[in-house]
Amino acid sequence: MHYVLATNNDHKLREIQELISNRFELVSQSDLEIDGAEETGLTFVENALIKARHASKLSGLPAIADDSGLEVDALGGRPGIYSARFAGNDASDDENVKKLLTEMSGKQTRSARFQCVIVLLEHALDPTPLIAQGTLEGQILTEPRGHEGFGYDPVLYLPELSKTVADLSGPQKNQISHRARALQQLLSLMK
Ligand code: IMP
Repeated sequence: MHYVLATNNDHKLREIQELISNRFELVSQSDLEIDGAEETGLTFVENALIKARHASKLSGLPAIADDSGLEVDALGGRPGIYSARFAGNDASDDENVKKLLTEMSGKQTRSARFQCVIVLLEHALDPTPLIAQGTLEGQILTEPRGHEGFGYDPVLYLPELSKTVADLSGPQKNQISHRARALQQLLSLMK
């Protein structure tokens, strides 16, 4: 069975493909020349459903979509669903990280987590989507560390591993990531 994966982010596509390639044939929406949907929801769940519905409608295939981001306790949960555009609509990873570190300067409470919601729609009008969620808990550092990964990886420190997410290799991150955990939950919902 082919599923369309509603993402244009190559890092995510690779992560998700590596995690579930033995279960499904995935085709990315960019390979089908489908543009990303406008993320107008107010929650990760709403945005993931919007993206999956859009990709399924335009491809005629069942769709999997994720929505993810960084939730920082000292910032009342921000940047949350706005993680990709924290420093502005076309902000780079470096600009987003810089804004985060500026807002976090002097804050004692550093707890934060990556959140990921993954949804599966059998078709665009599927009234019973599968919805799965995963988290990766850590602490926001005062400066970036590590060179792997993307986004906020260099500033999320994992105390149990004494490493940032950007210190982990791709396979190591795939073992513990919020996306991996959400996918595991999705796979168990599909059984
Ligand atoms: P989305 O593409 O709308 O899900 O936005 C996700 C944004 O959240 C990304 O652009 C990153 O800024 C951040 N993010 C999500 N997952 C990760 C991750 O695994 N590492 C680092 N940043 C992430």
